[in-house]
Amino acid sequence: MTARALAWFLCLWCTLCAAGANNGAHTSATRSALPQYTVSAQDSRRIELGSGMGVLVDSAGRLTAEQVAAGDQPWRAITQPSPNFGFTRDAHWFRFELHNLDATPLARHVELPIPFIDDVRLYHYVEGHLRQSYALGDEKPFAERAFQNQNFIMPLMLAPGRNLVTMRLASSGTIEAPLRVWDPVQFQEANDHEKLVQGVVAGVLLVMIVYNLFVFFATRDRSYLYYIGFVASYMLFHFTLTGYTFAYIWPQAVRWNSVAISTCMAGSILFSSLFASHFLRLKEFSRGASVMMRWFSIGGGVLVVLSLVAPYSVTVRLGAALTFPAALAALVLGYWRWWRGAAFARFYCLAWTAALAGLGVLNASKFGLIGTNFWTGNAHQIGVVLLVVLLSFTLADRINHERKLRMGAQARALVHEQQARASQQALIDAKDQANRQLEQRVHDRTRDLNQTLEQLQLANERLQRLSTTDGLTQTRNRAFFDQALLAETRRALRLKTALSLIIFDIDHFKGINDTLGHQAGDACLRALAELIRPRIHREGDVLARYGGEEFVVLLINTPASAAADLAEAFRADIEALQTNFETQQIRFTASFGVASSTAGHFFTSQELLRRADQALYQAKNEGRNCVRVAAPV
Ligand code: GH3
Ligand code: MG
Ligand code: MG
Repeated sequence: MTARALAWFLCLWCTLCAAGANNGAHTSATRSALPQYTVSAQDSRRIELGSGMGVLVDSAGRLTAEQVAAGDQPWRAITQPSPNFGFTRDAHWFRFELHNLDATPLARHVELPIPFIDDVRLYHYVEGHLRQSYALGDEKPFAERAFQNQNFIMPLMLAPGRNLVTMRLASSGTIEAPLRVWDPVQFQEANDHEKLVQGVVAGVLLVMIVYNLFVFFATRDRSYLYYIGFVASYMLFHFTLTGYTFAYIWPQAVRWNSVAISTCMAGSILFSSLFASHFLRLKEFSRGASVMMRWFSIGGGVLVVLSLVAPYSVTVRLGAALTFPAALAALVLGYWRWWRGAAFARFYCLAWTAALAGLGVLNASKFGLIGTNFWTGNAHQIGVVLLVVLLSFTLADRINHERKLRMGAQARALVHEQQARASQQALIDAKDQANRQLEQRVHDRTRDLNQTLEQLQLANERLQRLSTTDGLTQTRNRAFFDQALLAETRRALRLKTALSLIIFDIDHFKGINDTLGHQAGDACLRALAELIRPRIHREGDVLARYGGEEFVVLLINTPASAAADLAEAFRADIEALQTNFETQQIRFTASFGVASSTAGHFFTSQELLRRADQALYQAKNEGRNCVRVAAPV
């Protein structure tokens, strides 16, 4: 159903409602004698007068009790068990006859259980004489009532034989006349019972109000406030309609009592519409439905104010016209919302259905469609209690529903968080693993690199050694010597220290080669190197093969005399050396030239070399196997 269809339906209802308001109770023309109700001490049953009465509509309101009692008016018989004449300004006269079968007077109560009728009069005639009369109505202070009861109770003392009773009802609201005649004792019992039921209803509603007020303070959910407003105004409406508020709460407030029904009805419309709108969250559901409920609540609000200033007859009609469509809209929207998936609306629907069902059962029993018993008689009260309790339950259910949603969301969030944390941990682990692997790889690579570097260094060193070492004699080669000579000459100059150079050459070496072979010559060269090398162990000193069978010894920080002594020692050792080659024993000698450079007599490397060479030359010339020292200049 769309919102437009719903609005259309409600309009139709209003039209029907307005038309129905002016329809009186079913009557039929009659001039025949009314049925007589017999009463006796033995028969204490309650008499529902209903259709056993005659009714006379006095539109002008000018008929007097005497004129009516005369009986020559156009009386009509009532065909309805519960006469209801709707909203009417006309005064309505009723007449009925009670026949006391006993020989003694009999006490009976006539009850009009409609406490909101403005003007209620009763005239009791016996044999054409007025015996008793009552003038009641809700426009008189409660204390003025002869019988203090929430309903209009008119005690009669029925004379033996026929008793005629006429009643005049006039009101600015509806005229209803479900009149009853009671045995006083029976009445008291029924009344006690009725008060107990209403007391229970009042108790339940009050508990609901207080309970939900506390819930409102706790939750600050406006739905609770609207609910409380609705329950409170409905409660006042109900107890004003049944006369209890006038009897017990505001017995003096006649003016207020006459408008309270309108005000409370309007309040119920206002708060129920606000509640429906807010609880069903119509704003986020349907714009049309939300606007419609807003109009109902505005209507209710305006009517609350209007009820205090405008005539009751107008505001009560407006209120009645607005009540049913507002309640129906609240119900239909609830079902619609539920149908569209809002599970929280289910108890809401149940509540309104219970209330409407209660009203339906009440009306059905009123119109005699179903029998009267405790349940049908109290259907309205039961419906209201169910409405109020179920609505309160609805609120609790929604909190529960939302709590479940929240918990579900929290649980999902927790799972997501755990998953996120697990993935994060996995990521960290993977990163750690990757880092470890990387570190391991770096470590391996570094180790490999270091090994390679070490090997390279060794290779370099070997290469260096190879490039600076003479292959045959394993002494330094000439290239190394040249560099060392240059460096040490400079250092000696800088530090002003002595530097000596010995050059020695094997004597007649060519002869060894020629006679014993080149291999023998090589063996001699190796033997010579083996002999001299261990004796050149000072850091910085150098033994090198200078070329062929010629060797040089560079002695740092060594003066000429020490160098000459050393050369002499070498010479003697070489002379004593015996080299074994194959079966041969070879002996040879060497000549030595020594040159020195001191701080006082400094020579360049070339000069030092030349001078040592000259000294060697001199040694060769002077007979070989001797040491010659270049004279210092
Ligand atoms: P002197 O006493 O004047 O020095 O006479 P010598 O024979 O030693 O001098 P000379 O320069 O005439 O001869 C040197 C010989 O040394 C010539 C060459 O064949 C030989 N020789 C040079 N290098 C080597 C070498 O590495 N091994 C061998 N076996 N002989 C070499
Ligand atoms: Mg030689
Ligand atoms: Mg030579």
